[in-house]
Amino acid sequence: MSEMMNALVLTEYKKMTFMKVPKPEINDGEVLIRVKACGICGSDVHGFDGSTGRRQPPIIMGHEAAGVIEAVGAKVGGWTVGDRVTFDSTIYCNRCEYCMKGQVNLCGNRRVLGVSCGDYRRDGAFAEYIAIPAHILYKLPDNVTFDQASLVEPLSVALHAVNLCPRDLNASVTVIGAGKIGLLIVQTLRAAGYGKIFVIDRNPSHRSLALEMGADRAFDFRPEAIQEVRAETNGEGTDIVLEAVGVDEAFHIALQSTRKGGTVVLVGNISPNVNFPMQWVVTRQITLRGSCASSGEYPACLDMIARGSIRLDSIISASAPLSEGDEWFRRLYDRDGDFVKVILNP
Ligand SMILES: [Zn+2]
Ligand SMILES: [Zn+2]
Repeated sequence: MSEMMNALVLTEYKKMTFMKVPKPEINDGEVLIRVKACGICGSDVHGFDGSTGRRQPPIIMGHEAAGVIEAVGAKVGGWTVGDRVTFDSTIYCNRCEYCMKGQVNLCGNRRVLGVSCGDYRRDGAFAEYIAIPAHILYKLPDNVTFDQASLVEPLSVALHAVNLCPRDLNASVTVIGAGKIGLLIVQTLRAAGYGKIFVIDRNPSHRSLALEMGADRAFDFRPEAIQEVRAETNGEGTDIVLEAVGVDEAFHIALQSTRKGGTVVLVGNISPNVNFPMQWVVTRQITLRGSCASSGEYPACLDMIARGSIRLDSIISASAPLSEGDEWFRRLYDRDGDFVKVILNP
């Protein structure tokens, strides 16, 4: 009989069960990781009730994690038992045309950890152990904690989005949405030398966190925010807008807060479709860019955390034992309390 481990399993929609499941076995190219920290992502909370169709039970969710190598597959080189690591949330194939160009986020064979969507099922890291292919591992600097390292995945999403912005020193930027990704985007923009930064968010405590992390002004999420941004930019709007919400209203505020010739980078994508004001975009010559996950940003993220140029402590709202996972999912789902990031420790 195979060895067992503790895991938090989505046994049916809206029900997480802390239970024993078989400990994963590794193949020649994989390592076994003893998970130390795994963050609850917004996509896990949206998947919890079945609305996205990407977390079909039973599934162990969790793709923002860090831990220690417990066992190494026969053909794995360069990694040893005891190494402190984090890993990409996406298993890419390393063989297709996109992977060959370094665009691993666009890999046609990608599988996201902790996702079961009909095409595939891959258990995630809300468990004591997870098997991970060695090519998606990253070693942790000594001064980066496991809790901090579990935020490298969302930070890489922020860095990737900022990497897709025009490289203009001192360009002005509006960030829509000051959740985890929006707040990490604000810090990344500051580190990258951008100019005035405005943030738009509904939640007053997230607005004050945004100011703490380097935003110049933070406005409530409502149509008036467009005028508030324009008033700060000679009536024009900012050079760049990052949209980190992904619903119709946020998309419209984004387009209207951008100056003529400006760029909008789209990160959030809760809604599959939005209304598109074609004439506004064409006649103002606005550039739209989609930004998906990350491709190659992990080493930079780890270095920025290690050097203190990105600060994560005020983003971590709570860390709790994995056995309390059901309760934390329920609180996040019911919006009971004011959390940016909750981390579970197996
Ligand atoms: Zn995530
Ligand atoms: Zn590929």
